[in-house]
Amino acid sequence: GEHGAEDHLSFPKSKALHERACQTLAGGVSSQFRAVGSPHPMFYTHAKGARIWDADGHELLDFTLSQGPCILGHSHPELIRRVIESLQSGQLFAGQHVDELELAEAIKGCVPSAERVRFAVSGSEASHALLRLARHVTGRPKFIKFIGHYHGWLDNVSFSVNPPRDESNTPPAPVAWGGGIPASLAEDVIVLRWNDLDLVEEAMSAHGDKVAAIITEPVMCNQGCIEPLPGFLEGLRRLCDKYGTALIFDEIITGFRLGAGGAQGEFGVTPDMALFGKALGAGFPLAALVGKEKFMAPLANGQVYHAGTLNASNASIAAGRAVVEVMGRNNGEGYRHVRETGTRLRDGLAAIGEEGRLNVRVQGPGAMFHMGFSERARALSYEHVLDYDKALYSRFCQGMLAHGIRLIERGLWYVSLAHTDDDIDHALVTAREVLEEMG
Ligand code: PLP
Repeated sequence: GEHGAEDHLSFPKSKALHERACQTLAGGVSSQFRAVGSPHPMFYTHAKGARIWDADGHELLDFTLSQGPCILGHSHPELIRRVIESLQSGQLFAGQHVDELELAEAIKGCVPSAERVRFAVSGSEASHALLRLARHVTGRPKFIKFIGHYHGWLDNVSFSVNPPRDESNTPPAPVAWGGGIPASLAEDVIVLRWNDLDLVEEAMSAHGDKVAAIITEPVMCNQGCIEPLPGFLEGLRRLCDKYGTALIFDEIITGFRLGAGGAQGEFGVTPDMALFGKALGAGFPLAALVGKEKFMAPLANGQVYHAGTLNASNASIAAGRAVVEVMGRNNGEGYRHVRETGTRLRDGLAAIGEEGRLNVRVQGPGAMFHMGFSERARALSYEHVLDYDKALYSRFCQGMLAHGIRLIERGLWYVSLAHTDDDIDHALVTAREVLEEMG
């Protein structure tokens, strides 16, 4: 390649800052998912479009996009202008404002399940609120969640997020995601392998009358970016209808990324409730819980509580409105750009992988996708994701970073409106070089 090892970037300032941070910030970070970057968590100074600059002054092409939110790229001019304008007339009213209403109306207009909308700050609290609603409306205690799915860090859903491989033939028991999770909560969680409708059917015929909700990522973004097998989401819908159970789609990653209607719009399966965040807020604290009137009514009549001092702040709402408008322009041109750009990148990586000896695997819907190294051609479930060679992928990420490309070590790639064809070409040339260096 054109770069010799001597040209590889190094990060002494970030390293020193991280060491200093560890003396004060717990773990040197503010979210666990930021603690895992190698060679160490990085410090950044500014970002623009598809690029972010680190504390050592390197310009990095960014496929992290702040773990998904920056669908418009960093500091999109219209986004920033609209947010600043909103802030000039106040930051938080703790009362209603027309922009908030208009964003809710826009969401109702494009998301099939959004008969009612409630704004929040994070995805974690949104999944919490929707499970509470499902329990109240159905009068049932349990819910089904799938192994490897992530619905935020709160207690209810902190089971079987990334459990160790389970070789037994018995139904899997919920595995707490770290310490401090009350063991008693496991009684109300049924964990199942995703993409296996027979298992859901069995669980529902055994426990359906106690199951308030099935919560699922409509694409298993957090482990392997696995798409639903044909009929799987439809099957969940059918079972939920049969047993009077609420179907909840966690669209935190898919929402306002796959399209204006989220995964429910793309796959044509309408859940009873859904949660949105990340791309909707473009990097500002904004989440939305949406649902059918029947399930959202207890919020309206005050039987179920959901609150938040910082909900629907002016800046977050302005950001949400900018995303919906900018992405939706010209009949959803923004979504098409993200999908087509990401698809070209995904397929380009697959083609480069074919040339070499490492088993490069890519998978997922283009607007975001997963890359890893595995002997298995395609992952369909969490167990398959465990087959990826994580250490090898970590080496790949470090190699890409040393060549000025920032990736997520879990294997997910995000693209934005700001990524150009040239950016994709550059990423592909670099990936080929790094893979060659790796052997
Ligand atoms: N649901 C999914 C699918 C997510 O990927 C995440 C975050 O990564 C969450 C929920 C939690 O959202 P937040 O980080 O805004 O609390």
